[in-house]
Amino acid sequence: MLRRLGKGGDLELISRAYHMVFAHVMGVQGLFFVITGQISLPHIIFGIVLTYLSAIGIAAGAHRLWSHRSYKAKLRLRIMLMIMQTLAGQGSLFYWARDHRLHHKYSETDADPHNISRGIFFTHIGWTMVKEHPQVTEKEKTIDFLDLHKDPVVAFQHKYFRIFDLILYHAMPILIPYYLWLPSLYMCVSVNYLRFVISYNTSSLGNSVAHTWTRKPYQKDIGPADVTWLSLLIVGEGWHNFHHVFPWDYRSTDVGLYVCNLATAFIDLMAKIGWAYDLKTVPDHVIRRRAARTGDGSHPHATLSAEEEGEKEKTQDDDDTNEKDINTNIKTDFNENQMAIDKLDVGDIEPAPWGWGDKDIPREDAQETVVSHGKSE
Ligand SMILES: [Zn+2]
Ligand SMILES: [Zn+2]
Repeated sequence: MLRRLGKGGDLELISRAYHMVFAHVMGVQGLFFVITGQISLPHIIFGIVLTYLSAIGIAAGAHRLWSHRSYKAKLRLRIMLMIMQTLAGQGSLFYWARDHRLHHKYSETDADPHNISRGIFFTHIGWTMVKEHPQVTEKEKTIDFLDLHKDPVVAFQHKYFRIFDLILYHAMPILIPYYLWLPSLYMCVSVNYLRFVISYNTSSLGNSVAHTWTRKPYQKDIGPADVTWLSLLIVGEGWHNFHHVFPWDYRSTDVGLYVCNLATAFIDLMAKIGWAYDLKTVPDHVIRRRAARTGDGSHPHATLSAEEEGEKEKTQDDDDTNEKDINTNIKTDFNENQMAIDKLDVGDIEPAPWGWGDKDIPREDAQETVVSHGKSE
């Protein structure tokens, strides 16, 4: 998931397309050097470590922290995640989170930057090389990005992104192996592009494959689907049906397999040492209730027990009386200008929630969301 084109016009379009083609050609050469034994083992391990660090930077940082606000992070963790995300070569955090919020809010419509209804090639890679649909620019105004503007880590990286990109995506991954293990500079450049090609294509599978698969345990009438094997490749981001229904859940799934969900394991570890806090989790009974009501029947617990049925009715009965409390709960995490922005959100596209603090989260889901690991805990 790179970013869509900015205001740079045709020149930017050409340079972005050139970079994408050039990176893939060089990456294939890098793969050739690796499989023909021309790259030393420490160099390969170095590349794998950087690939995983950048994957965590994307999944736990750009995605679950900044795009969805599914947890909060202390400054030291935000700086660490920003550095890890820059390693991926997928643009600034601000652009990444902006495009991703749009993707959730108006998924699979003209306002979705990588709209799957324009074809799998467009969704996987093409959207980074063509001008955006006018609806994308239009609907961007309906989403609040104040939290991103106000985060000094996001703002600083965005302002000096070219320098960050030059050092962390280009120079460091090329020059360290060049001086330590003495391959040719050309080989170092090729292997670095191989890292980009792997990182880009695996994370883009979340845009393409996860929007074409068919297993939809939580909501059957939306495009995103659960693809368990994909989670192994992209550190826990494959349960896309769950994720689009509950984007504010920091785990991105209710399946507790750490081996498939390294991003969740990382966030849990950070919470244990106090660097991550206010982790949002949707309780099991809420997930099952939703799966029973709107899923395709493939969720193993997609049935409502008599107790849960009673709970559901009680929740509906309590809706009006609890409305004030619910609003207080959610609004504490809203940005100040959310109400003004909400007024712009009118039109023909049905919006979905982009994350915690969004008005489109169903009221009962927001009310029952558990916020754990408070800052003082
Ligand atoms: Zn997401
Ligand atoms: Zn999606």
